[in-house]
Amino acid sequence: MRMSAFFLPVLKENPSEAQIVSHRLMLRAGMIRQASAGIYSWLPLGFKVLKKIEQIVREEQDAAGCQEVLMPTIQSAELWRQSGRYDDYGKEMLRITDRHEREMLYGPTNEEQITEIFRESAKSYRELPKLLYHIQWKFRDEVRPRFGVMRGREFLMKDAYSFDLDEAGARRAYNKMFIAYLRTYARLGLKAIPMQADTGPIGGDLSHEFIVLAETGESAVFCDKALVDRDPLAEAIDMDSDLQPMVNSWTARYAATEEKHDEARFNALPAERQVAARGIEVGHIFYFGTKYSKPMNAAVAGPDGQPVTLHMGSYGIGVSRLVGAIIEASHDDAGIIWPDAVAPFNVALINLKADDAACRAACDDLYAKLKAAGLDVLYDDTEERAGAKFATMDLIGLPWQLTVGPRGLKSGVVELKRRATGERHELSPEAALAKLVG
Ligand code: ATP
Ligand code: MG
Repeated sequence: MRMSAFFLPVLKENPSEAQIVSHRLMLRAGMIRQASAGIYSWLPLGFKVLKKIEQIVREEQDAAGCQEVLMPTIQSAELWRQSGRYDDYGKEMLRITDRHEREMLYGPTNEEQITEIFRESAKSYRELPKLLYHIQWKFRDEVRPRFGVMRGREFLMKDAYSFDLDEAGARRAYNKMFIAYLRTYARLGLKAIPMQADTGPIGGDLSHEFIVLAETGESAVFCDKALVDRDPLAEAIDMDSDLQPMVNSWTARYAATEEKHDEARFNALPAERQVAARGIEVGHIFYFGTKYSKPMNAAVAGPDGQPVTLHMGSYGIGVSRLVGAIIEASHDDAGIIWPDAVAPFNVALINLKADDAACRAACDDLYAKLKAAGLDVLYDDTEERAGAKFATMDLIGLPWQLTVGPRGLKSGVVELKRRATGERHELSPEAALAKLVG
């Protein structure tokens, strides 16, 4: 993409409405614009990141044997009356009436919708187990939408649902999602720690929140440093094997949010392993048994022909919140530092003197070769000042900056900078290409 053609409305000034760094940087980098409170439009740079995150989430869901569907954003109130949640949900639910006076709503989540789909289609225990997910916009009329996409009213969520014959089956599904989530966050370049969450009236230990450690997090969290140091991607896994031992090895170590914090257990850890921090919830997995299937009559015929009420779980990832969470976890004074896996472009190619024929020729050549090698390149071919070009590229945080200027070219070199470390190398154009493509 040529900068001269790209729609990138960066802001020079810090927007006054933004209280936290990710919100500020997303506005400044032209990633989003607010449409109304807690509702955002995604501009090209932001949309690219959102799609990359979505794709990694999708790949890990697929790898765990979860099948993608797409349910609507608008649901019927009637379904929510069946589960009893239509009245309980309260003011967070956006209620709509259509032209025939039918009560509808903008879905805040999809347990009812998926339960209906499954109830109408699955008849026998032989059709179990099943795991289904979708990635769809949700609406929750939050009292205090704030922090940009971190707590929006309209937000993108991946929500998966499991259907099993009994609790043991549901636990297998839960374990798959538990491991898939750890892998997903690690691939996004994040450290997310699973922490036991409230299960409400269902009881048991099958509810975890996944928390990214960041200073601006909404809740105080406490955990064992061994969890922070552990890399889920370094461990081979077979999703069809018994995942319980691996899940146990994660949950055995201390990790808790404020609400569940046990001071004594935490203090029993060696001092150098006590991590007290703030955290952002980026996912939540939950086994809720027959909470929806029972009132909604979702059952299949068991092996003996008798109806068995389905055991269900739901598994959410805040896809749009993750864009903000990644920035909270990875930025510096100059701007965003994208992890490679979610960067909107792989390389920034900067022509320092766009009206110089030699610079232009060298840049055009590098641009063509990088693209041919499959890299996504943002090529600054404009006549802006050099300082402004660097500032914009640092702000939008692409992993590599490749700079071509008249002085370097005379001695046959270009400059390659790694955004995350600030490390710079003067190299021949060929060597720079080899490093980027290699
Ligand atoms: P929170 O405690 O942050 O309000 P929640 O418990 O209401 O979240 P869930 O129903 O578990 O959220 O939804 C699954 C995921 O969706 C959350 O882990 C979070 O990442 C994301 N999410 C929830 N509410 C919002 C929101 N208002 N804006 C952006 N993302 C959200
Ligand atoms: Mg939650």
